[in-house]
Amino acid sequence: DTSMRVAKRIAKAGVCSRRDAEKLIEEGRVAVNGKVLATPACVVTDSDKVTVDGKALPAAEIPRMWRYHKPKGLVTSHKDEQGRKTVFEALPPELPRVISVGRLDIATEGLLLLTTDGAIARHLELPSTGWLRRYRVRAYGEVADEQLEEIRAGATIDGIAYGPVEASIERVQGGNVWLSIGIREGKNREVKRLLEHLGLKVNRLIRTSFGPFQLGELAPGAVLEVGPKALTSHL
Ligand code: URA
Repeated sequence: DTSMRVAKRIAKAGVCSRRDAEKLIEEGRVAVNGKVLATPACVVTDSDKVTVDGKALPAAEIPRMWRYHKPKGLVTSHKDEQGRKTVFEALPPELPRVISVGRLDIATEGLLLLTTDGAIARHLELPSTGWLRRYRVRAYGEVADEQLEEIRAGATIDGIAYGPVEASIERVQGGNVWLSIGIREGKNREVKRLLEHLGLKVNRLIRTSFGPFQLGELAPGAVLEVGPKALTSHL
């Protein structure tokens, strides 16, 4: 049995934010086991019956997560001011309402995690969570392995300090070079900016993994749910 403060339980049930739940308590609208609370300083367990305005809380939602192969050409936002098609419009209609764990640029392809749980998304986005995001990158130009040392160590570009990066050259193809890049934060256009700094112009960017989750054989546009065990064991 997990115990937590009432306001947290109310927020977890999706009724409102924790702050607003505290207001509900102060307004005398919350009861525990039939007794109206006077202050938020009350801890409950799963077996306690919490009501708001006399109504039981909705059953706690079990967090769900999907791996999604984002195709290029979609923006990762719920609405786009320029009317461009969004990831969320392109998802299969049977999916419940989800949010993405971070974003991929419009031209970027590959693994995007989707979840019903905002707290999980925010947690996984934090630089302090530090999960490796791995990319296969095709960039126009030439680069020698020694030049990658500069971004491996963590580079500061235009006043922005980027963390250490895993970087290796996979192969050269025509005027392009394919690289494998691993970053542990998700700063705006990070991979492009790091490689631009080395004189390379990214023209294909594919995310192949995010922490323990792999793009694998997912086809572009496909979604596949991460089992609840795999999800909770990694959080
Ligand atoms: N780095 C980028 O530059 N773009 C992305 O979409 C992801 C990482």
